[in-house]
Formats: sequence, structure tokens, C-alpha cells
Amino acid sequence: MTTELKDTTTETPPIPALSGGKYAFFFDVDGTLAEICAEPDDVSIPASVRDNLKTLAAATSGALALISGRPVEQLDQLSAPLRLPAAGVHGAELRDAAGNLHRVTLPEDVAHALQKQLEKGMAVMPGTLLEAKGMAFALHYRQAPAFQQQVLQLAESAVAAYPDLMLQRGKCVAEIKPRGNDKGSAITTFMQQAPFAGRIPVFVGDDLTDEKGFQVVNAMKGISVKVGEGSSHARYRLGRVSDVYQWLEALQRHLTITNNKETTL
Ligand SMILES: [Mg+2]
Repeated sequence: MTTELKDTTTETPPIPALSGGKYAFFFDVDGTLAEICAEPDDVSIPASVRDNLKTLAAATSGALALISGRPVEQLDQLSAPLRLPAAGVHGAELRDAAGNLHRVTLPEDVAHALQKQLEKGMAVMPGTLLEAKGMAFALHYRQAPAFQQQVLQLAESAVAAYPDLMLQRGKCVAEIKPRGNDKGSAITTFMQQAPFAGRIPVFVGDDLTDEKGFQVVNAMKGISVKVGEGSSHARYRLGRVSDVYQWLEALQRHLTITNNKETTL
């Protein structure tokens, strides 16, 4: 899809009230359900937010999934004790609602050669961090923004040798991942399966990696929500992570108040 990004920060309407339909919810994690931290390991989802996700999942017969660049294993740690359907590593891992995990793999020799090449390249850039995810690599430079150009060049030159891999840019990170998997394809896969199928998709995300998801959701006449400023395909917008929390809290209150009438979303 080649639609041009438009900065809609100042003209997006508020998210419509979710009533009169059955919805499926998809959430990015970092920068959406969790504040971004200098160290990816320091990130957390507050307990009250996890509670609200649980309520929302129950009200939608389980049609709530996390869609993230993180591996599914990390998503489970962040959402514990919840264990939600999840797409990790931008869709290269996908655990469906039945608990089956599907995973794209890289040939071992390719993964090994790439790791060596990236380790060597990043060793001369103090403050950068290489995260190996099995089938993907994240080159973080949040702690060393001066190396942005060099990190991108390293990632581009690494990807150039492998036609099955592609570069995905994010906030202070360049990721090398298998081609053909993105947040849009992950949402499409979920929407073809129970309990998501037949529902209206709602996707909330904050980064460039979420744009493919917004486009897919728009095409399904769903509700796409960008968190923060900047150009986006999303039709609606929330200012920051705390606004996502408030929106979830309001949804949860609506469900609790109307619970006696067996309201579902
Ligand atoms: Mg994010």
C-alpha cells in the first residue's frame, strides 16, 4: 500500500463510543500500554491496566490480542497473570486464541552470520544495544542517538545480503526481520479466526511499525488509533500512554456499570 502519510494530529475526531457492535481489540505494547523506558527491560504495564484488559477480554469473548515487536515470551511477562493471544516480533510469532504458537524461523547459518556481523558493527558504537530475537534482530540506539545514521547503515548493509529479510524502523530502533510479516498481516490473521472473526477491529499503536496495522484496520472499517503526534494512517488519536489508560478505564467502567444487562462488546 502506498498511501501517503498525513499528519492528522490536530484534526482527528475523538474515538467514537463503542456500542452497538461487537469489537475485537488489538494493542501495541511499548508506547501504547506501557511507557517507553530507556532500557527495554524496565518497561511495565500497570496492574490496573492489566485488570482493565482482563475485563475487556472477558467482555469480547477473548477477542483481545497484543501486537508487538517484542517476542511473545516477553509479552506474557509484561501482561502476567494474563496470557493473551499475541503477535510478537512484528507478526513473525503468533499465538492464537487456542494457544497455538506459530513462528517464522531463520536458517541457523543465516542467524549466526547476521549476529556476528551485527555484534561486530555495534561493538564500536558505545551505548547501542543488539537484541537477538531468534528470527529477528533489534538494533537499539535510544541511549546513543548520535549513532542513528551508523546503526541504520549497518542494518541496511546487513539486510541487503538477504532478500528474505527486511528493515523495519521504529522509535530509536532499527529492526531486521523476515519479510512478509508485519502488524497488518498479524491482525489480518487474527481476524480470520475465532473469536476475532466477524468483529470490528480496534487497533491502538504509537509507532511507524503500527502503520501497516492501521491500514489493515481501516480497510476493514475498524477503528485505528494513533498514540502521540506525527503523521499516521490512523483515523483517531490519543495524546499519550496515560490517555490510553483513561480510555481503557472508561471502557471498563461502562462494562461494569452495564454488567447486569450482560453487556458485551
Ligand atoms: Mg509501540
